[in-house]
This record gives sequence, C-alpha cells and structure tokens, in this order.
Amino acid sequence: MVKEQFRETHLAKKISHITFAINSHHDIARQAHVNVVCHPLYSEQDHTPVPYSALDPRLGLCKKQGECKTCNLPYLDCIGHFGYINLEFPVFHYGYFKSIVNILQSICKKCSRVLLDEQAKAQYVKRVSNPNLGYLERKALRSQILKKVKKKSVCPYCGDLNGVVKKAGLLKIVHQKFKNQKDILNPLEVLNLFERIPVNDVPFLMMNPNTGMPKDLLITRIPVPPICIRPSVKYDFKIWYKNEDNLTMRLSQIVLLNDQIRQSRERGMKMLQYNDVLEFIQIHTAFYINSQVTGIPLDKQPTNPGRGLVQRLKGKQGRFRGNLSGKRANFTARTVISPDPNLRIEQVGIPIHVAKTLTYPERVCTANIEKMRQLVLNGANKHPGANHVKIMKNKEVTSIFLGFANRAKDRSGI
Ligand SMILES: [Zn+2]
Ligand SMILES: [Zn+2]
Repeated sequence: MVKEQFRETHLAKKISHITFAINSHHDIARQAHVNVVCHPLYSEQDHTPVPYSALDPRLGLCKKQGECKTCNLPYLDCIGHFGYINLEFPVFHYGYFKSIVNILQSICKKCSRVLLDEQAKAQYVKRVSNPNLGYLERKALRSQILKKVKKKSVCPYCGDLNGVVKKAGLLKIVHQKFKNQKDILNPLEVLNLFERIPVNDVPFLMMNPNTGMPKDLLITRIPVPPICIRPSVKYDFKIWYKNEDNLTMRLSQIVLLNDQIRQSRERGMKMLQYNDVLEFIQIHTAFYINSQVTGIPLDKQPTNPGRGLVQRLKGKQGRFRGNLSGKRANFTARTVISPDPNLRIEQVGIPIHVAKTLTYPERVCTANIEKMRQLVLNGANKHPGANHVKIMKNKEVTSIFLGFANRAKDRSGI
C-alpha cells in the first residue's frame, strides 16, 4: 500500500482558494500508512522499534542512517508518514467540546432533528446556506438560532421532551430531561445522535456538510504523526536507553488503554465496570491535544503534562511564530534607541556586551599587526578584543575560536 503524498506537477496551476475542514474518520485512515496497535515501543530482545507501535519504522526516519521503510528515501528527503489508532470507544475532542454541547442543545435527543419547526426552517434556509456570509454574520445567525431552539422543550417532529443540556465538569455533558432526572450523555450516545442528524438539517447548525459533519467532532480515530516531529533522544552512555517525546508516550498510553477496553468488551463486561479506563483514555486524548486542560480530578492528573499539540503550535515559541516566521540570526542585536549627549551626531552607542558579540573581520597587514596581536591577546571576553582568528593555509581557511584557545600561542606556522 504505497501512496504518494506529494507529486510534482509540470503544469502551472493557480490556487484559487483554500478551505479548512474537519479531518474525518475516513480521511485519517486514507492519509495513514500504519494501524498502530502495539503498546510497547521497543522489543525486549534487540531494543529495535516494534512494528505497529507508535515508533513503527514505516512512520518515517528519526536518525540519519538508513532509508525510510515507506518511501525508501534517506533521512533528509523523507517527509514522514502518518499512522492511526482506531479507538474502541469514541471520545470527546477537547477543542470541539463547546461546539458539541451547542449542537446537542440544538437537536432533539431522540430523533436527532434540529429543534426548529418547518416554518422557522423555511425562514432560515436561504440565509444559513449562503456561502458568502461573513464570519461575524454566521456567528450572529448561530446564536440567534441557538436562542430559538433552547426555548423548545417539545420536539416538533417526534413529540419527545427535551430539557437543558449543559457541561458538567471536565468533558462531561448532562441532559436534564425532567426536573429530577439528569442523564449523562456519554460520547457513544452523542456520536449515535450526531450520526442520525439529517444532512438537510446540518446547515442550521452553521456547518457545511461538504467540509465536515457533526459526527466528525468526536474522536473515533487518532492520527499518529510522523516520528520526525517527535524524535527520540538517545543517550550515548547506554546505547539502548532512549528518552521518548511526550507525544509518543501519550500515544502509546492511549493504545494500551484502548486495548484494555477491547479486552473488557470481549469478556462481555458492562460499560460501568470499565468506566475508569474510559475516563482515562478521555483525559489522555485531551492532554494529547492540549496539555493545559483544567479541572481534572487530582487522582487522574498525569504526572508529566508535557507539551500537547496546541502548545507546540501556539504562542511566541510555537511552530508558527517561533520556527516558521522567525528564524535564528547571528551577528545581530537590538536595543532601545535613546539620545546621548556624549555621542556625536553620526555615532551610535552600543553596550559592551553587544560590542563583544558583533564582530567585524579585519585583514592583518604590517600596518596593523601590532594592534591585532593585542586584540587577540585580549580575547573574546575583554573589550576591545577578538573572537576568532582565521588562518589561510594551502587555500583552506582554519578558524580558531579565542574563547577557549591559548591566545599567547603563536599559530602563524600552522
Ligand atoms: Zn518516508
Ligand atoms: Zn424529536
């Protein structure tokens, strides 16, 4: 099953637009190469990565030697390949949780239809399916519809009672059908309800059926990212001992819990009996996405939250601002500009620390050799000084860093 992810084309093409969509259950498997089912990462005999684990070699290379098992390319050319984990039991997506609650508030908890009567639907249908609606207009329309459906306590289609739906603690939803009766809606029930929402009703939830269905908001399959974004750190003193990235550990934990659920089901256990495992897998997937999840009961809190996917992307140190738009630059410095009466009009004053780092290459000649010698003796930590000496020998340039070198040694003869 070798699939090409990127093919170079010889045709000139112009991108007309980009659409963001929810990654569906089906798409995740289509983009992937390996079904990850093994919990142990390394085999006990030879300490090599276990096939079908989160470190399966088909997910890409993380070391400079060898070729990728999927695309046969070396380390620098392999782009990495996805895998996936099939969950035995659906879980709520931490990032979509609010939308899930909103949709539950909008639909009948028995027949899954949006709680707007035919008349109201006819009134809204044109506006909700207008593709040119701006973000703010869509948001306003969404809250307008939500306000309307929240008032409906009897479904206009099946006549069933619908009560208040709200968040109850971390990633839990309750439905208060009667005054004294609160039903907890588990992810499986929510998924079943969402799967039955008629396609014609989806636009009233302000979703586009072409780019994502409500059922895609729940996680039934987890994409396993390529190994190159979560490399193992190898220690030299113990050849086999490796420190794994937090994402790898979390994925392997999810596989283990998933396996426990499968076994419990095969043994015919009731859901209540393995409820703890379900809660754990829910928390682990939430942490995998966002490690700053709040409101976890103390006994279920992971010891090392690490960095979740959200933390790797957002913020100043994140992938976008930190790695993609910003690059590391040497021989630059920045300062706050302020006037200084001690400087001439064409002069700029810089701190000594900056003067020691920002250097300028100067060629040695008979006129300046004595001065240059003194600068080399001063070295990198004394101003004015020198950071490097470059010596040309046999058309090759050798650079010596003066920070640690024996500066008094005469190297003109090398
Ligand atoms: Zn590859
Ligand atoms: Zn109904």
